[in-house]
Amino acid sequence: MSTQQPCLVLVYQRTTLPWVFESAERAGIRIVLVPRPDETVAPDRLPPAVAEVLRLDIDGDRAGALATLRRRHETTPFQGICTLYDPAVPFVAEAAGLLGLPGIGRDAALGAQDKRVMRERLAAAGLNVPRFVALKSPSAWEEAAHLDFPVVVKPAHGFSSLGVTKAERPDELKAVVEEVWQICRGTLGRVDGVIVEEYLDGPEFAVESLAHRGQVTVCAIGYKGEPEGPYFEESVYRAPAVLPEAVRDAIRREVIAAHTALGIAYGPTHTELRLRGGRPYLLELGARIGGSGVSGYIVRNVTGRDFAADALRIATGLPPRDFGTGRTPSATGAAANYIVPCGGSGRITAIHGLDEVRADPRVDHVVQMLFPGDVVRPYPHFTGYPAFILSRHTSTAEAEEFHRALETAISVEYASEAVAEA
Ligand code: ADP
Repeated sequence: MSTQQPCLVLVYQRTTLPWVFESAERAGIRIVLVPRPDETVAPDRLPPAVAEVLRLDIDGDRAGALATLRRRHETTPFQGICTLYDPAVPFVAEAAGLLGLPGIGRDAALGAQDKRVMRERLAAAGLNVPRFVALKSPSAWEEAAHLDFPVVVKPAHGFSSLGVTKAERPDELKAVVEEVWQICRGTLGRVDGVIVEEYLDGPEFAVESLAHRGQVTVCAIGYKGEPEGPYFEESVYRAPAVLPEAVRDAIRREVIAAHTALGIAYGPTHTELRLRGGRPYLLELGARIGGSGVSGYIVRNVTGRDFAADALRIATGLPPRDFGTGRTPSATGAAANYIVPCGGSGRITAIHGLDEVRADPRVDHVVQMLFPGDVVRPYPHFTGYPAFILSRHTSTAEAEEFHRALETAISVEYASEAVAEA
């Protein structure tokens, strides 16, 4: 590979999720991969775009990780740093700031990562926000009891719906807040508050956008189902969402205004929102490519645009391609992700149906993440998802039909014996 190619540090991306590596290859960007601490990467099985592996312990030794990056940058400069892993967004913003690389800045990263700050900034900008209360300790639960129920309780720094729990009535609130607090302490390893907000009923959508020099392009809007809780397991993603043009416009306006409110002027974003009475209410805006790279696959197959390649180009200081027309490219097809539900808990003995799905010509990828022998802990704990099924279709309606068939075609079987709580 030529040394003229831009070089980008990619933090905590699993090599089993290939899309962003493929986009890097197409964009001619070399990757310095920082693997997750729990991942062993075999040097002979790395994606071709990966030129180097650099281990950093961001959580355990943040200062040491920054120092290592600085040394690496001084000896062999790289042009950018990015991540698709939400908890690493603030670290990446800080590192980029220290090294003078493109980034969103620490303050914008804080707003995108801390749900309390995000809600405050969106509300201050006059955007649609459900009423909410931030709690500093579980004993303060009564401060949220005046909200209209149901409410949703969630960790201030959560991700992947971890611990996000609905409380139907005020008399459940104390217990739910306590439960979410325990999740923060245990699974997230971080206890600094929860947010309680009014439940937004209505269908959910994901919006994939790219910002460059403060100009935001909404690249795709997809349907995410209508999860009703009490726990919010991810289920489907089908794009383009079938929506009246006026609603699409309202979504675009709200999402673009949210970028301004949060000060996000560069890079990819993944926004989740719900429509209530035709009005979009943001759930969150992540300053990263969504779904560990799934969003790149979706946008590329819906619009033809290599979203992740553009995101990586922006991270290295290059302008994105096809940018600045101010319009959303017209759809060329539909793309979808079906997230196989755990459908139970305990020790997995078999996952049925995946081989048949792999052979389906509409399916591009079956990414299996749980296997026989793995133990799924019951909700509200989150072990992970058994598999992602990424597929392409001629229309969103066809994708929906395909997903309905998958509901019965795939099943996870568990051992009958009880598994001791870890
Ligand atoms: P995380 O960052 O952990 O994914 P989110 O804020 O995105 O947390 O919440 C996860 C899911 O929980 C959302 O995708 C949505 O389905 C549900 N949810 C969260 N907040 C609300 C709310 N106020 N009303 C309705 N559903 C919500």
